[in-house]
Amino acid sequence: MPDVASVPPYRAHLRCFRGCPGQFSVYEVIYSCPACGGLLEVQHDVDALRARSAADWRQLLERRAGTSSFPYGSGVWGMREWVMPDLQDEHVVSMYEGNTNLFRAERLGRAIGLPDLWVKLCGNSHTGSFKDLGMTVLVSVVKQMMASGGSPVRAVAAASTGDTSAALAAYAAAAGIPSIIFLPSGKVSTAQLIQPVANGAYVLALDTDFDGCMRIVKEITQDNSLYLANSMNSVRIEGQKTVAIEIVRQFDWEVPDWIVIPVGNLGNISALYKGLKLLQDLGIIHKLPRLVAAQAGKANPFYLSFCNGFRQKVAVQASRTLASAIQIGDPVSYEKAVQAVTASNGLVEAVSEHELANAAARADLTGMYTCPHTGVALAALFNLVERGTIARSDQVVVISTAHGLKFTSFKVGYHEGKLAEVESDLANPPIYLPADLQVVKETIARKLQL
Ligand SMILES: *Cc1c(COP(=O)(O)O)cnc(C)c1O
Ligand SMILES: [Zn+2]
Repeated sequence: MPDVASVPPYRAHLRCFRGCPGQFSVYEVIYSCPACGGLLEVQHDVDALRARSAADWRQLLERRAGTSSFPYGSGVWGMREWVMPDLQDEHVVSMYEGNTNLFRAERLGRAIGLPDLWVKLCGNSHTGSFKDLGMTVLVSVVKQMMASGGSPVRAVAAASTGDTSAALAAYAAAAGIPSIIFLPSGKVSTAQLIQPVANGAYVLALDTDFDGCMRIVKEITQDNSLYLANSMNSVRIEGQKTVAIEIVRQFDWEVPDWIVIPVGNLGNISALYKGLKLLQDLGIIHKLPRLVAAQAGKANPFYLSFCNGFRQKVAVQASRTLASAIQIGDPVSYEKAVQAVTASNGLVEAVSEHELANAAARADLTGMYTCPHTGVALAALFNLVERGTIARSDQVVVISTAHGLKFTSFKVGYHEGKLAEVESDLANPPIYLPADLQVVKETIARKLQL
């Protein structure tokens, strides 16, 4: 079988998601449609891609997965023809992201009466969240722009609830490109704050919330010397969509019945759908999983929109939630997410602080180490199984979006019983004892009920 190097390069460009005429280069500084102001998306030449058979594509991806030949060993760049086909090797900024474990959640699944449960551990990645998948693409595109000469771009910038900035700072540092980060002061975890600091980004902690940071960064990046790395930048979606393709590959090219994903700005669920749709267009899969968008009740605009039948977009002032990375009141990728949910016959769920914290703790007791956002997705899953919406025989994948190690104070607070609006049903605090053999023996006997 000839490798792709021997076929003409595929093409991709930006166009309006709502279908206004016109197309733009991926290497142009443009974030929204000049005609209607709506989101852009990267459009691939699907007809050209279809010239290669489904079986050939499957084989090609399998052959590359996890190898060390640059850049194909990256879970993202192993699919480069579907991601950013004309990006040159010397501009790829990769830390071999992707290829994350699809965790067989056997004990948790059995406990909730859902034997075929899997958790996609996207947080097992360079900076600890799925944001790496998008940032490798964005920073590579910027590197190619800057190398071409004539580009006004001098640095990259993003407003963030914590994980976007960690990923941007790391990839920018790897590329030697300056980065500027806008964080809502006091609203991200210590780990998330210190990650971009350590990577040399200019970190501006603003006295506002995420939506307030977003307004400022949008204004600042009007001047094209700063390239905007937020999820309204649709280039990131191309990397993030690989997670859907990777899941399908890990199931030997079969699709699960459901995928449950925690959502905030709604970029990731849009990406999930875009990856699945591409597989369908290429004849590699023949049905879609139903997508469940899970929100924290404290920041639930998408849930409210779903409840009104998506007749209109709802924006709210997001309240403080333990799931801080999805504390977003006015989601940017709303229209794309509506398509994802509608076209997949999916739905939206919202959960309480109590539910998300206890769901995370329950998963941890089966060997995982879940972040609060994964807790949101798990709690939504528990509710849907309980209500019978998800059948016990269904195969379900939960997207775990970040590593629990980034959220230590969430874990400590839970096990100390100190989280607001949460009863820590599964608290397991350390036991402080004198260094006395007898006391230690008695305590162990009591715990193990010997
Ligand atoms: C960014 C993020 C999300 C939400 O993704 P969106 O694309 O904003 O919907 C969920 N969980 C974690 C840990 C994140 O960092
Ligand atoms: Zn338009």
